[in-house]
Amino acid sequence: MSEIFTDGAFDLHTHSFISDGTTSPSEIAIHAASIGLAGFSLTDHDTTEGWAEARTEAHRQGIDFLPGIELTTTHLGRSVHLLAYGPDPTDPTLQTELAMLLTSRFGRAQEMISRLRRDFILDWDAVLQTPSEGALQSVGRPHLADALVNAGYFTDRSDAFTQVLSQRSKYYVPTYALDTTVAIQLVLNAGGFPVVAHPAASRMRRPLSELYIEEFARAGLRGIELSHPENREEWLEPLRLTASRLQLVETGGSDYHGSGKPNLLGQRTTPSVVVQQIRAEVATPH
Ligand code: AMP
Ligand code: FE
Ligand code: FE
Ligand code: ZN
Repeated sequence: MSEIFTDGAFDLHTHSFISDGTTSPSEIAIHAASIGLAGFSLTDHDTTEGWAEARTEAHRQGIDFLPGIELTTTHLGRSVHLLAYGPDPTDPTLQTELAMLLTSRFGRAQEMISRLRRDFILDWDAVLQTPSEGALQSVGRPHLADALVNAGYFTDRSDAFTQVLSQRSKYYVPTYALDTTVAIQLVLNAGGFPVVAHPAASRMRRPLSELYIEEFARAGLRGIELSHPENREEWLEPLRLTASRLQLVETGGSDYHGSGKPNLLGQRTTPSVVVQQIRAEVATPH
């Protein structure tokens, strides 16, 4: 790897195979150090399970670690991903909600498998045959995609999503999600720093509206992920103005998923001065 970041850059959005990434937390730490990142956050979907391993390897590599989670939330029918940096992982309400999210993901995946079985040969064992060798905690549509790809039905995750796994698909089943404003409160109460993820992602029909961001800010939102590989540049200007008006912290992350997505580790970053600001507010800064 040749890329060198000179300003103390942190990639604040990454996934391991504990959720829907394809590499271990340690591999992310080693990779982050090798490309010259000052640090990173592991933000697996709805789980804190990878934190210890990521932290240990980050420190062994001489780089920084900021604990994170990407929470599955919804607001007025729209799916919203909420990044939570540095919450206390032992907070009882947070633990209860994470347990509900993970349990629901499990049941939802099984329900989607039974729907897919009308047209595809697929079973639960094939879905659990991930590179994680039992480390998987947070099962999602990407794991269904991988099983369908391995069975030869589709060329890659993206193809499987487009053809059969999108929200509009007849095989789609929703999973439990908190309302975004409730989730923001929960994160704050657990000592975390809530940041709305990829607010202008190109896979959405439109960006998150200013009204939503205002409502989230009233609930206590602290940041907005304006720098993300899937944010559509032409949607960003109004969000930038809203962010600065509401004094939201602007973050950046790659949403690295190993080989599960084209996003490259370190493709988008957050300067260390911003990370220090986040750390100063949270229960678990390292
Ligand atoms: P789930 O949380 O189970 O509903 O699955 C959503 C996850 O699927 C997101 O976090 C993305 O990582 C992944 N995803 C969504 N669309 C695609 C796509 N087109 N290609 C690859 N991964 C995707
Ligand atoms: Fe994901
Ligand atoms: Fe996301
Ligand atoms: Zn993500």
